Amino acid sequence: MTRFIFITGGVVSSLGKGLGSAALGALLQARGYSVRLCKLDPYLNVDPGTMSPFQHGEVFVTDDGAETDLDLGHYERFTGVPAKATDNTTTGRIYTSVLQKERRGDYLGATIQVIPHITNEIQDFIREKDGTADFVLCEIGGTVGDIESLPFLEAIRQFGNEVGRERAIFAHVTLLPYIPAAGELKTKPTQHSVKELMSYGIRPQILLCRADREIEEDERRKIALFCNIDEKKVIPALDVSSIYEVPLTYHEEGLDDEIMDSFNITDAKAPDLSTWENIVKNIKEPEGEVKIAIVGKYTNLTDSYKSLNEALVHGGIANKVKVKLEFIEAEVFESENPEDYLKGANGILVPGGFGERGAEGKIKAVQYAREKKIPYLGICFGMQMAVIEAARNLCGIEEAGSTEFGPCEESVVGLMTEWVKGEVKEKRKTSTNKGGTMRLGAYPCHLEQGSLVHKVYNADDISERHRHRYEVNMAYREGLEEKGLKFSGLSPDGKLPEIVEHKDHPWFIGVQFHPELKSKPFDPHPLFVSFIEAAVKQGRLV
Ligand code: GLN
Repeated sequence: MTRFIFITGGVVSSLGKGLGSAALGALLQARGYSVRLCKLDPYLNVDPGTMSPFQHGEVFVTDDGAETDLDLGHYERFTGVPAKATDNTTTGRIYTSVLQKERRGDYLGATIQVIPHITNEIQDFIREKDGTADFVLCEIGGTVGDIESLPFLEAIRQFGNEVGRERAIFAHVTLLPYIPAAGELKTKPTQHSVKELMSYGIRPQILLCRADREIEEDERRKIALFCNIDEKKVIPALDVSSIYEVPLTYHEEGLDDEIMDSFNITDAKAPDLSTWENIVKNIKEPEGEVKIAIVGKYTNLTDSYKSLNEALVHGGIANKVKVKLEFIEAEVFESENPEDYLKGANGILVPGGFGERGAEGKIKAVQYAREKKIPYLGICFGMQMAVIEAARNLCGIEEAGSTEFGPCEESVVGLMTEWVKGEVKEKRKTSTNKGGTMRLGAYPCHLEQGSLVHKVYNADDISERHRHRYEVNMAYREGLEEKGLKFSGLSPDGKLPEIVEHKDHPWFIGVQFHPELKSKPFDPHPLFVSFIEAAVKQGRLV
């Protein structure tokens, strides 16, 4: 029997609901249950693929090629369950589907309305998860009280009513702000938020209260009393120094016990939290430190590189070192000397990116890493810039560039119009829509024997997730290889370059895919483990 936990948020946004849901998923797994996590996003975009990382943070890509909300990354990182396209939906997607059905005539002349058509469509999204795991955790994006959230709240209310209290509960995440003048945490916003939720017919069984300091017994009692919730189920969710502590702190505060109690589960196993204890121990007691410079574009919003930051932390866990990240706006290298910024770095990373702005600066960062023999990891755009750098500075092709930046004489990186997915040939015209038209999702890659990546992965064939429109042009392969830039990973048909590496460099790898999307704290990605290991070695040399 599948049980459902719906997670809503109140008071303010950015409360870490996604992280909380993911940590709860990990806790349930630690008790031996299977879990599936999904997210309902109230915004109108069909998917977050066209949203700027500045606005919405990173776009997370699933194996099956969906561009999804970054919370799915948290889910996967905490539970290890690969996220699927069907784990995320948005108002835009729900409406698209309802309107398509209307055009097809599926509703047989009915007047199409938010209730019941939209709410039923939302419930179908939830219902299709029934039977897929012991627990389905379903997070509702946005904040209770938003106009956009209403159909979602109505849908989960109806769903909860239909399946009954034994199978569906509601957890609400709120904030207790600290007011210095009063010297206390305030419970009123939480009371109002719960009241709002109740006005939609949803009474939460569990309250997760975010706060930056201890919540006194009195305050808990007050919340319980005014929100009509069992006191033990008013759970403090205090700030922690590492996100990987969250499953442990939630457990200490009794969250999993109270979830069991809410479902009347009396025979649950005690959780085995040793994996999380080890991870936290490695993070808190590092034996050293490395500095990694990330030369990118969206550097002032850390959420833009969420998975990347985490994958680097995972690489640090595996090497028992703290990874200090330094974000550098690539554009500064267009007027300033990279040396001034990169001198102290033990590793340089150019992450994924779109558009021309900052590209020249990134190419300079690549050149610096190559010439100074500093470990370099180029991801997607970072690989493309590494190839352009080699074409210009090693092969002497001065005009080397990418057609992403406009027409170009020497398109070392060019638009992909045709590629093979499984048995099918995917084609794209240069003029099609921007949304959902990239090479997306998991693709196999064959690694060359004897190469650095072969050693890193210790495998002949791998599968990694992609999200890009442009591709390194095979026509330049020979010339580049002559100068030492090896194409050490290719698509199985040998047509698409997936990995490049410099032969005469201690650690220089560029990958066309996004390895960070698959890294987990309990299963760090080999590229990040090896990159950080190389950075540690570099640190010993200086
Ligand atoms: N803008 C590049 C492309 O579309 C790289 C994309 C990325 O880094 N994810 O190919």
